[in-house]
Amino acid sequence: GASTIKRQDIDPSSLTITKTTTPKETLPPTDLVFGRTFTDHMLSLEWTASEGWLAPRITPYQNLSLDPASCVFHYAFTAFEGMKAYKDSAGQVRLFRPERNMARLNKSSARIALPTFDGAAMIELIAKFAQLESRFIPDMKGYSLYLRPTMIGTQRTLGVGPPGSALFYLIASPVGPYYPTGFKAISLEATDYAVRAWPGGVGNSKLGANYAPCIVPQMEAAKRGFHQNLWLFGEEEYVTEVGTMNLFVAMKNKETGQKELITAPLDGTILEGVTRDSILSLARQKLAPEGWIISEKKYTMKDLDDAANQGRLIEVFGAGTAAIVAPVRNISWKGKMVDCGLKPGEEAGQLTLQLKDWIEARQYGDEEHEWSYTV
Ligand code: PMP
Repeated sequence: GASTIKRQDIDPSSLTITKTTTPKETLPPTDLVFGRTFTDHMLSLEWTASEGWLAPRITPYQNLSLDPASCVFHYAFTAFEGMKAYKDSAGQVRLFRPERNMARLNKSSARIALPTFDGAAMIELIAKFAQLESRFIPDMKGYSLYLRPTMIGTQRTLGVGPPGSALFYLIASPVGPYYPTGFKAISLEATDYAVRAWPGGVGNSKLGANYAPCIVPQMEAAKRGFHQNLWLFGEEEYVTEVGTMNLFVAMKNKETGQKELITAPLDGTILEGVTRDSILSLARQKLAPEGWIISEKKYTMKDLDDAANQGRLIEVFGAGTAAIVAPVRNISWKGKMVDCGLKPGEEAGQLTLQLKDWIEARQYGDEEHEWSYTV
C-alpha cells in the first residue's frame, strides 16, 4: 500500500564493496563512444515493500538475473537519470547538482509506483562509487564519467499493480565531449505527425516508456538528413523540446526590441532539465543586468518563424547533460527552412558559447560554486 512505498531510508554505512578481480583497461580518451564502454563496477540496492531498502552493494559490473515475468519487462516499470562526474584540475572528482537528479528520479519513480529514497544518502553512495571508478574519468576538459542511475520494478507477476519489489542500480560510462572537434550546428525537423508529451501525461518524468516511442520520429528526421527532430505540441504548434534536450531561443522582443532568452515553461509537457535550470539561473544572474529578458513562456513555431523573417532571431540551441548546449542552424517546418541566425560557416552563436563556458567552469570546479559537489 501507499505507506510501504514511503519507506525511503537508505543506510550508506552498510555499503559492502566487492572489487573486480579483472580490472578493465581504460580506452584512450579520444576513442570513447557515448554509452559504449562501462567501468569495472556497479552500485545496487534492492527494495521490497515489506523491508524497504536493503544494504547497498558495489560489485563487479555484471548481468542482471531477472525472472521473465518481472514487471519491468511487461509494463515499463523503469525510470532513470543521466548525470556526470568530472575530474577537476587538482584531480578531484566532482558531481554537478546531483540533488536535482535525485529529486527528479524520486519524482519519476513515484509517478509509476516505484519506491522513493533519501536523495542525500544516495548521493553519498554515488560519491563513493565515483571515487572508486575515478581512474575511468579522463582529466581533460570536456571529458567526464556519465552516470546512469536506474530504477526498475522486479516483482514477478503479470498482474498489473504496484511493484512489491524493485532494484536501483547505477552503471557508468566514460564519455568524451559531444563535439570533439568543436561545435557543429545541427539541423532540425519539426515533427508534425507525433507528439512526445501532453498535458496531464508523463512527459515531465524521466520514464523509460517516454523514450522508445521517440526513436521512429528521430529515424524519420534522420532519413531526410536532419540531426534531430523538434517536438511541437497542439494546433498552435508550441515549441517544446528537441530530441532529448530542452530548447532555448534568443530573439529581439517584437514590441520593445529588447533581447530575450526564451524556453518553454514547466507545464507538465517538458522535462525539467538540470541544464535548463542552470542556464536560466546563469542568465538571470549574468544576462538580465545587461538588459536581457529571461522568459519561461509558451511560444509557437510561427513566433520563431516571424522572428527569423523579421531579422529578430539571434540564436537557437538545445540544452542537456550530454552536450551542455547544441547550436541549431535551421529548422524544417511546413516544407520551408527557418534559418536560426548563424552566419554562413559559423557553428555556434556567442551566447551559446558563453553559456557553455559558464556551466563548464562550475562543472570542472574552475569556478568554486555550490552547484559542484566534491566527492
Ligand atoms: N529533455 C529530455 C526529454 C531529456 O531526456 C533530457 C535529458 N535528460 C533533457 C531534456 C535535458 O535534461 P538534463 O539537462 O537534465 O540532462
